[in-house]
Amino acid sequence: MLGLVLVLFPLTLKIFMIPKLTLLMLVMILYPLMGLAMPAHSPVPGGVAIIPVSMLEKITFNGNPILTLKNNKGAFAIVGIPLSAKPGNHEIRAGKNKIGFTIENYEYQTQYLTIQNQRQVSPLPEDLKRIARERREMNSVFRSFTTTMIPDTNFIAPLKGPRSSSFGLRRVLNGQSRNPHSGMDIASPEGMPVLAPAKGIVAATGNYFFNGNTILIDHGHGLITMYCHLKNIHVDINDHLNKGSLIGSVGKTGRVTGPHLHWGVSLNNARVNPELFLSND
Ligand SMILES: [Zn+2]
Repeated sequence: MLGLVLVLFPLTLKIFMIPKLTLLMLVMILYPLMGLAMPAHSPVPGGVAIIPVSMLEKITFNGNPILTLKNNKGAFAIVGIPLSAKPGNHEIRAGKNKIGFTIENYEYQTQYLTIQNQRQVSPLPEDLKRIARERREMNSVFRSFTTTMIPDTNFIAPLKGPRSSSFGLRRVLNGQSRNPHSGMDIASPEGMPVLAPAKGIVAATGNYFFNGNTILIDHGHGLITMYCHLKNIHVDINDHLNKGSLIGSVGKTGRVTGPHLHWGVSLNNARVNPELFLSND
């Protein structure tokens, strides 16, 4: 009898412990994946290619340093593909080695917009100097590759509201062909709070000719996010932000047809689709 109790006791204990253990095991299995969630693999112009690499060595693509992340499945190069990239065979470099990958074709639709302020479509000669200076300022951030922070690529949406699928659209403004749309527009009434999608450091703020009141956040290793047309900016350069930190409010500054947030994501100096960094919930 005592023997039976002794045998049964551990069994009962085991049965009671199963749900907890299963939960613990699930958490242990999922945690590394949750902790280092990667953007969605979408090897098209304006997308991101997730390429297995043998180790966390210095990877480059078209001369730009590339973010590498490691999870329980191995090490991966996370390559931002510019909208201007040609579909076909490409390669990343790992030291002297070349690793090939294919950029697939994707046809972005054309969007026709009417801008009331014609000067924002065809800027005056005196505007061009300002535009060039602002472009240099933004490009120096997009080209940067800081290594003090390993980026969290599992973003939260910076703003509640309907997310348009306008990334990559070819644009015709007042009948004139312009650069494709390099971010995501989120419709919202003016004044709504805009949040940091992940930890980062404010790399630039400014009032730009096309982008209006703008914030650029450096998340580390060439991952930069951009917030445009803001009404107010609540952060300063070098501020350290957490996921969800308030950074500004929705506005209609710069070249817009109405209040909205233009949200841009840049990876290794390629403007990529922000949707790839949001989980599907
Ligand atoms: Zn936009």
